[in-house]
Amino acid sequence: MLDKFKDECGVFGIFGNPEAANLTYLGLYALQHRGQESAGIVTSDGERMRATRAMGHVADAFDEASLQSLPGHLAIGHTRYSTAGESRLYNAQPFLIDCAHGQIAVAHNGNLVNAAELRNELVRAGSIFQTSSDTEVLLHLYARAQAFSVEEALIESITQIRGAFSLALLTKDRLIAARDPNGFRPLALGRLGDAWIVCSETCALDLIGATYVRDVEPGEVVIIGAGGLRSIRAFPPAAVLSQCVFEHVYFARPDSYVFGRSVNDVRTELGRVLAREAPANADVIVPIPDSGVCAATGFAEESKVPLRMGLIRNHYVGRTFIQPQQSIRHFGVKVKLNPVRSILEGQSVVLVDDSLVRGTTSRKIVKMVKAAGAREVHLRISCPPTISPCFYGVDTPSRAELIGATHTIDEIRKYVGADTLGYLSLDGLRAAVGSDQKSYCTSCYTGVYPVAFPRNEQAYLQLSLKAVD
Ligand code: AMP
Repeated sequence: MLDKFKDECGVFGIFGNPEAANLTYLGLYALQHRGQESAGIVTSDGERMRATRAMGHVADAFDEASLQSLPGHLAIGHTRYSTAGESRLYNAQPFLIDCAHGQIAVAHNGNLVNAAELRNELVRAGSIFQTSSDTEVLLHLYARAQAFSVEEALIESITQIRGAFSLALLTKDRLIAARDPNGFRPLALGRLGDAWIVCSETCALDLIGATYVRDVEPGEVVIIGAGGLRSIRAFPPAAVLSQCVFEHVYFARPDSYVFGRSVNDVRTELGRVLAREAPANADVIVPIPDSGVCAATGFAEESKVPLRMGLIRNHYVGRTFIQPQQSIRHFGVKVKLNPVRSILEGQSVVLVDDSLVRGTTSRKIVKMVKAAGAREVHLRISCPPTISPCFYGVDTPSRAELIGATHTIDEIRKYVGADTLGYLSLDGLRAAVGSDQKSYCTSCYTGVYPVAFPRNEQAYLQLSLKAVD
């Protein structure tokens, strides 16, 4: 079975540095937040390509010996998170294959909306799939491409896939980066001396001391080889861009520049707008760390109420949302956060978080803050209610599990146990990201999808009005 629209990932690639594997390893460290289930690196020394992939965090996936077994001046790397059922090594990227066009490796961030359709056709034509990942489809298309040259074969295959893709590809002598015409996921281009880098977020450039050059443009294929960099427009320009607004709301790191804007600045602005739209009479603003910190800063600035770290996060546990089972997730909240009684006791507290998905985490946190002595808790969320799943690569549950899709704001407030609950409006979100309404995908807040997906996936959108206890 095919993995469904849940690949949260980070990609990295480098051309032209003898320490390609080590630099990719560091780059992946900076992209760890984009995927924590598996990591992998593929290198080339110009003649031979080699791969290492393992389950777990970057720090656990590689050791000195595995990095030393990856010689070469070209490399790509990947961090991945997917659903529990398909959390298997065979799905860990980069994938590396050998075919009529030679060896090629791929690292993909995003989700291909026509993967199931293409896969069925390919299987009927005799392809044997090794993974349940949508990305593998691209490799089969490449292997079967009629074009003679590597570049033409690549363009022939890439132009058949649809949906969200920021790709780093490696052949024995070239690094290739490609971004879908809607520009769903970010992809930055940088330089380190003479070397070229591509990466999901600019924080990976910072870590290795590289400089940001520009973004890979939506619809652009960048080919980097011994002769330098060439840019090909492989797709007709999309009528509208669909950059993922959730990258700014939650997903990207605040020290990154994404879609040309500082994530920290956008997030802080989300908090400022939220404070204007949903003010609260409070003594203290408390972020839910780490996701709510930037927005809480903006909220505190705008409302002129002090910001205090009233919740402390234990950084040695994974993100609670990313734990596969419900039971573990609940337990995870207590493991992850602890209230600071001296800040909260007797106070009217504004708690700020970036998003509310199922509501289970917020409910635990509100309870925890009240148990620590808070007089009132006003929960503020720096995005609109999440009402629809993502088909372009962010892990959102089905619509029936999204509390914003099945309950009114007051019902959600009661469920989470807050005295008041306020969300940022869609207009407020658009204003804060500086959107002209045509450049961002906001489908998780609107249910309006910029790139159509197959009908059978519409089941995922159905609402079964299950009551939340
Ligand atoms: P919930 O209890 O389901 O409402 O979880 C909300 C929390 O999950 C918020 O603190 C968000 O920062 C976080 N969150 C939202 N979306 C995601 C995601 N796609 N991956 C990981 N964490 C997320």
